[in-house]
Amino acid sequence: MSATSHDCVFCKIVAGEIPADVLGRNDHAIAFADLAPQAPFHVLVVPLEHHEDAAASAAADPAIIGHLVTLADEVAKASGNEDYRLVANTGAGAGQTVFHTHLHVLGGSSSMTETLV
Ligand code: 5GP
Ligand code: ZN
Repeated sequence: MSATSHDCVFCKIVAGEIPADVLGRNDHAIAFADLAPQAPFHVLVVPLEHHEDAAASAAADPAIIGHLVTLADEVAKASGNEDYRLVANTGAGAGQTVFHTHLHVLGGSSSMTETLV
């Protein structure tokens, strides 16, 4: 997969072509608020390099996933969320709508104590 995809909304956010509420970044990833938050704290952590999902990013370079988790932890804790949930929808059947790897970082909700798995 190419480093960028011209019709990808997250590539456009990475390139600064679409505005986003950026909470943090490092050399490999950017964190910004989800447009349609599903929890009081709902941030997306996105690698700068385009791959269609987390498995594809891991196949290209396993370190990418480590960079995502590190940035997710930083922005969650900087926002007062010591406890949070990471979600990586993979495939349309699992709810993936943007086919550029991303972690949802969810926190601040009492429903977070419910277990999904
Ligand atoms: P998915 O359903 O693929 O796991 O998650 C995609 C997420 O991207 C959704 O939660 C959706 O609200 C968010 N999203 C889609 N387009 C934009 C956008 O242009 N800006 C931001 N900040 N979030 C977006
Ligand atoms: Zn992309």
